[in-house]
This record gives sequence, C-alpha cells and structure tokens, in this order.
Amino acid sequence: MEREIAREMSMLNIGNYQELKAIETKENIDRLIKMLNRAAIKWSKQAVPEAYEKAYAISKTRLEIIGAVRDYNFREKTHRQAIDEQIDITMEVLIKADQSIKVNVATFLYLASQTAKGLSQFQAFDMRDEELIDELLGDALRAGETRNTAMRTVRDFFGERFGDAKFININGRNYEMRAYADLVAKTRLRVTQSEAVKNSCKEFQNDLIQISDHGSEFDDLCLFYEGKVFSISGQSTKYPFLDAWPPFHPRCQHSAGATSEVAIEARRR
Ligand SMILES: [Zn+2]
Repeated sequence: MEREIAREMSMLNIGNYQELKAIETKENIDRLIKMLNRAAIKWSKQAVPEAYEKAYAISKTRLEIIGAVRDYNFREKTHRQAIDEQIDITMEVLIKADQSIKVNVATFLYLASQTAKGLSQFQAFDMRDEELIDELLGDALRAGETRNTAMRTVRDFFGERFGDAKFININGRNYEMRAYADLVAKTRLRVTQSEAVKNSCKEFQNDLIQISDHGSEFDDLCLFYEGKVFSISGQSTKYPFLDAWPPFHPRCQHSAGATSEVAIEARRR
C-alpha cells in the first residue's frame, strides 16, 4: 500500500507537470488512503481488545497470587468501556496519520503546479529576467539543470516543511510511513496494556504497582520510574504516587505490574 502511494508520487514528473495527471494521482491516492483507513479500523478493532485481554489475564493471575481480593462492587463493564475507548483513540490516531498523507499529497501537487507555472513564465521571459528567475527558483535554474533542479527545489521544500512527519518519500521510498504507523500502533497497545493493569488493580483493590526493569540508559526518560514501586492512589506512606503510567514516551518498553507489600517483602528474602 505504501509502495503504491510512493509509486504514484514518483510517477509525477514535476518538470513536465500535467494537470490531468495530477488529478489522476490525487484520485488514486485518495482511494489508497480509504483502503488504509479501513485497514486501520479493522486492525484497531482486533489488536486493541487482544492486547487488553491478554494484559488483563496476566495481571489478574498476578493479583490472585499476591492474594488481592476482588471488589464485588466493581462494575464489570469498566473493561468493555476501556477497550472501546482505546479502540476509538487508536483508530483516530491511525486515521489522522492517513489523512496527513492526503494533506502532504495535496501540498506536493500544489507546489508541483506552482513550479510548472514558474517554469513556463521562466521560458516566456527567454531567460533574460534575472530577478524573476531568482525569485522563482534562485540559483538552481541558472545552473542549467532546469528540470532536475526545479524538481529538487520542490522536493527539498516539501521535505523541510514536513520534516520527520513526512509519510511518503517522493523518490519512491516508503520507510517513514510504515515506521510511523508501526510506532503509533505499538504505543497505543502499550497504553492499552496499562489500562488493563490499572483496571485490574481497581477490580482487585490493589494499590501498588512496580515498573519493569530492563536496564534503561542513564539518560532515558524512564530512569526515574524503572524498577520502582509506586502507589496508584498516592495513599501509601512508603511509596510515591504514580504520576504517569507507561508508556512514558514513544517506543517506551516499560510496563506496570501489580505488586504488594508482602510480594516485595518475599522477594527481599
Ligand atoms: Zn520506558
């Protein structure tokens, strides 16, 4: 899919910009984005409940092992609501990423058409109007590689404008888009897992959690949390209030796990 979008974009020849070809490209991209959106919805509806239920099952087992007692007033539908909420947010962020491709494409096509106009104006002036040439594309055109440099100028502008957020590489590479979708998806599943742990602790009236420990770099944002025990409510006199649940940042590998005074004590011996 990303490859198809990249191919559409790379087929556009800015040096020989054609309005009809541009419209066709836009229509093809819009169709591809509709497919991407449908795939994002389908994936969210499947992966989010799976991640929640798996994390919940693990947490529940752990809570039972440490002897936590279920609150019989706990509303069972809390879980369903949390899953639905996470599905909605996940779909929303993925669709937003898809939509940004659409915006990128529209901007790119606009710039391509502007460059084409600039080039025809440039030709009309028979290369004599230095000032206009400068204004349009600067030194690049004077260098003699008119078409290639004009294209490069637009590409550079395009790249600069969207920076890291660009999802399509016009040269036909598709890496950024996939990486971004992957990053978003992984982060959302981490959030979902934390929601499951949070709700299981609520259900089993358990206040202490421990953040996983896997040797974060010393400058990692997570170092403050790593391996430490926190109080969810902040009621504990011994352990600090948990002011944030993992993931603490994109690509964060940390997770929260239920624990208790007894469990901590048992491990010490
Ligand atoms: Zn982390």
